[in-house]
Amino acid sequence: MPESLTLQKAAVCGLWCGACSLYLATLEGGDRLETLAKRLALSIEDARCQGCRSDTLFQHCRACSFRDCAAERKLQFCAECVDFPCEKLQAFQAEKPHRADLWRDAQRLRDVGGEAWLAEIPARYACPACTATNSAYDLTCRACGHPPVSPFALEHGEAVKTALRPRAKEASHE
Ligand SMILES: [Zn+2]
Repeated sequence: MPESLTLQKAAVCGLWCGACSLYLATLEGGDRLETLAKRLALSIEDARCQGCRSDTLFQHCRACSFRDCAAERKLQFCAECVDFPCEKLQAFQAEKPHRADLWRDAQRLRDVGGEAWLAEIPARYACPACTATNSAYDLTCRACGHPPVSPFALEHGEAVKTALRPRAKEASHE
């Protein structure tokens, strides 16, 4: 398998695409992608994503400056950079709760390499009841409804809930 395809879900910045709501919704098909696209005021095509290194990218990830920067510096991951973590990446990390593990993940990526990292990271987002992979924003398991969904949710669930709250309020005014 070409390396670019193997690493499709290992994002340049250090995020794991497998825990992204849009990636999972794209993979699963059904209504979930449409619902998410509406919430983000995007077309379905602009919400669809098959991972950082794929040709089908969420609009926001299509315009990723980290990918361009890493390509220019001939690096696979930000964590390999002499400037890691740069101010831009620090601001990016602090912006959203699903990026809570970014430092740990990025450093682990650098230490063990993309393939080994990709083999171990799904456990962080796996449902303890049914082993389904959940998004960082799933507060109950997307497959079986079991709470709390994963080690990530156990550690960061409160921050995720807080981040989702204003969005829920907005939705109630629609
Ligand atoms: Zn489950």
